Amino acid sequence: MRGKDEILRGLGAKYGATLRRRYAKVYFMLKKRRSCPMCGSIRFKREATGIWKCHKCNYKVAGGAYDL
Ligand SMILES: [Zn+2]
Repeated sequence: MRGKDEILRGLGAKYGATLRRRYAKVYFMLKKRRSCPMCGSIRFKREATGIWKCHKCNYKVAGGAYDL
């Protein structure tokens, strides 16, 4: 698994500091563990852009592209 520093370093040459910060924020938002609002299971993942789904109780919710 790639570390945070490695990812940010890889972007360093291509993008400015602002974009890099924004990317890091989104990246950690996606990596963050969430729990299902219905059953509390942590098998609650982003299924597609704007769609979050619990793989335990099949609860599905439309949210933002990167966060609920
Ligand atoms: Zn659930």
